[in-house]
Amino acid sequence: MKYCSHCGSDAVSFSIPEGDDRPRHLCGSCGAIHYINPRVIVGVLPYLGDRVLLCKRAIEPRLGLWTLPAGFMENGETSEQGALRESWEEARANIRVDDLYCVYDIPHINQVYLIYRGELLDQGHGPGPESLEVELFSEAEIPWQEIAFPIMSEALVHYWADRKTGQYPLHRGVIQRKL
Ligand code: ZN
Repeated sequence: MKYCSHCGSDAVSFSIPEGDDRPRHLCGSCGAIHYINPRVIVGVLPYLGDRVLLCKRAIEPRLGLWTLPAGFMENGETSEQGALRESWEEARANIRVDDLYCVYDIPHINQVYLIYRGELLDQGHGPGPESLEVELFSEAEIPWQEIAFPIMSEALVHYWADRKTGQYPLHRGVIQRKL
């Protein structure tokens, strides 16, 4: 951070505020402490019968690869509302949420993913502005080599395993930086 977003001063340092235990961007002019915290990404694993819905990304990163509908949670909405909003924006899909399904921390990029599981309410779906294509895939049809993010692959692996038992417990995990 070069300029204070509170007062516009360029007297911003990166140092540990009194009483804190880690460095923050501190404004030497107005005294504002600019906290930067992890971001929450909300999404849905949408299914219909024995198929799940994936979106082919029309934007970077990972343009052209497949993902579950998901995106940054907005202020003023619940995580479930955000997940449904993303499903509509990216896949024009109407979904009834069953339950929270996957919680993943990705500490090296400061993100937390909340993925719900939800049934498509109808056959209607199609690409929103951030998708090139939206399609339903059976387990055998999933393009495993073309999934955009490790978290999405993990959620899909859990889903196909859980389908065989009919039980869908909450899955938690941590995605670590690839060494
Ligand atoms: Zn300031």
